[in-house]
Amino acid sequence: MKPDLFQAPDYYNLDDLLTEEHKMVRDAAREWVKRDVSPIIEEAAQDAKFPKSIIKGLAEIGAFGPYIPEEYGGAGLDQIAYGLIMQEIERGDSGVRSTASVQSSLVMYPIYKYGSEEQRKKFLPKLASGEFMGCFGLTEPDHGSNPSGMVTNFKDKGDHYLLNGAKLWISNSPFADIAVVWAKNEDGRIHGLIVERGMEGFSTPETHNKWSLRASATGELIFDNVKIPKENLLPNKSGLGAPLGCLDSARFGIAWGAIGAAMDCYDTALRYSKERVQFGKPIASFQLQQKKLAEMITEITKAQLLAWRLGVLRNEGKATSAQISMAKRNNVDMALKVAREARQVLGAMGITGDYSIMRHMMNLESVITYEGTHDIHLLITGMDITGIPAFS
Ligand SMILES: Cc1cc2nc3c(=O)[nH]c(=O)nc-3n(C[C@H](O)[C@H](O)[C@H](O)COP(=O)(O)OP(=O)(O)OC[C@H]3O[C@@H](n4cnc5c(N)ncnc54)[C@H](O)[C@@H]3O)c2cc1C
Repeated sequence: MKPDLFQAPDYYNLDDLLTEEHKMVRDAAREWVKRDVSPIIEEAAQDAKFPKSIIKGLAEIGAFGPYIPEEYGGAGLDQIAYGLIMQEIERGDSGVRSTASVQSSLVMYPIYKYGSEEQRKKFLPKLASGEFMGCFGLTEPDHGSNPSGMVTNFKDKGDHYLLNGAKLWISNSPFADIAVVWAKNEDGRIHGLIVERGMEGFSTPETHNKWSLRASATGELIFDNVKIPKENLLPNKSGLGAPLGCLDSARFGIAWGAIGAAMDCYDTALRYSKERVQFGKPIASFQLQQKKLAEMITEITKAQLLAWRLGVLRNEGKATSAQISMAKRNNVDMALKVAREARQVLGAMGITGDYSIMRHMMNLESVITYEGTHDIHLLITGMDITGIPAFS
């Protein structure tokens, strides 16, 4: 892969809206991605291997639990800082950002929000330092967009619970030390359980042959009469709202992260278009290429504004799930379109691993599907503005 010459676009001087702390956190993540992610990520994606060597660095830049209080090992930052970290990591690769998102919003967040004090103390500091890696099991083979239909279940056996079922498409599952798993009790109520590697009957086979998120490990979670100690049930929230609360936090991070992927594609295409000469001129001098580049920076700027405002609302505790859906949907769609246009600016070179664009484009095909598909988020907006759910 070519040397990482990334220069972040900031067309509307959005830096002026950030605090010194935001900029410091963002710049540290940006430097780390340039130094430790860019040189290895193309090979990791080509080999379809999650690069475990970056776990320590992710912890050091505060990517594991950025907004979890420091007393539990988190970075104690606000939501905009969290968003900026996700943006910078996804500028490097959506798969790496997925690992950080899952660890922060889908594993640490539910333990922090719904867990007991003992669970917080036992798991959060190790997750923040990367000593423990986690995964989040909601999706099942027959229940993706409709997780309420899940069949994974647990029964009360007196001194423990007995867990049975299977989860599919689980990021980090092949190497996770713990899994936050959503399952129904005997009354059909959804609860979160912490399942630990090594528990008898628990296995995590890897899913192969992905053309997308190749640097992120994806797999199954299989529960065959797994005995779960009672103290591993998350006691403070149940029902579908519990996993959906985690998804709000993760989708917020994705709304920022996707901007990072788009910024990288735009920046690469802009630089290439000034260097590549055809018909005796740089291709940047042709109106059709300028149209592509001008539309890219316009859409990136709009997405940046949306994410920043959503961050302010999240910091004030006012952001609704529907507002988060809108930003996730818009920004991922924007990034995918930017990646496709940027790929064309590079002509044939755009399909090679010498540049990051094709990898971003393929990654974003997962990002537009996971954590609620593009269509499901549109239905959420539709329901929010009309008051009528159109899901079934
Ligand atoms: C790489 C990757 C990593 C993932 N990581 C995780 C993870 O860590 N944990 C986890 O729990 N899950 C994870 N997922 C799963 C992901 O969240 C689901 O794939 C997603 O929710 C969609 O479910 P599905 O794939 O079963 O699609 P389906 O629900 O089968 O949907 C198929 C199509 O039908 C459409 N559709 C469905 N219902 C409706 C409706 N009512 N109206 C209109 N259209 C509809 C959808 O929009 C979609 O286009 C991951 C997925 C991928 C690809």
